Amino acid sequence: MMFGGTEISSCPQCGKWIKRQTYGSMNTFGATIWSDNYIVGSMYINSLEVAICAHCEKCILTKDLISEAYIPSVLEMYDEDMMGNKVHKTDPSILEDKYQDAKALFLPGFNSLKEALNYIGEGEIVVRHNIWQHLNHRFRKKKIKNLSKENEQFYINNVKKLIDLIKIENDNDQIRLAELYRNIGDFESSREHLQRVEKEELKKLRPKFENEIEKGNRNTFILHDNR
Ligand SMILES: [Zn+2]
Repeated sequence: MMFGGTEISSCPQCGKWIKRQTYGSMNTFGATIWSDNYIVGSMYINSLEVAICAHCEKCILTKDLISEAYIPSVLEMYDEDMMGNKVHKTDPSILEDKYQDAKALFLPGFNSLKEALNYIGEGEIVVRHNIWQHLNHRFRKKKIKNLSKENEQFYINNVKKLIDLIKIENDNDQIRLAELYRNIGDFESSREHLQRVEKEELKKLRPKFENEIEKGNRNTFILHDNR
């Protein structure tokens, strides 16, 4: 994976400077893709849709961030002129000085995500999607860990709310809905959504989900293992 420079923006919650590492290219080579579309791979970073501001510790949606400045990486600092000589393009130290108080974003934990539901407004679907994947991490461990009774109920309610929030726009939404229904044991609705998938390439995934339904399995499973 290629690392790019640093993007500076201000936190939509507290207005202070935050910085984000940018990435040149990503791919799923050698990655494991799970049935909830969570991807684990060395050349891939699950998009940080929800992140925590290190200043105010509130959840923010990264799509809401407006770029204020870009601090290039060392590799991007130079250009080549027509003769192939290295030419100094930008001096990032000037920018770095101006934004020296900028703090990096970090990944939200379960409690921060849960709390975010109280103030995130339109971002509810994104937060609930992240909560879903977060609680599914228990299936990605060698030994599956059970949730507490309270969290199990929270998980089910979250899946149901997510189902209500999803507006079907394409086949990926059908797959996501099929998976959500399977997670709460509504196998019939899950099958119905799988049947509505039209794209050939996604149709190929159908037997994998149907096989799990056949087994009566509600757990998140590995869809593709490219390792
Ligand atoms: Zn903030």
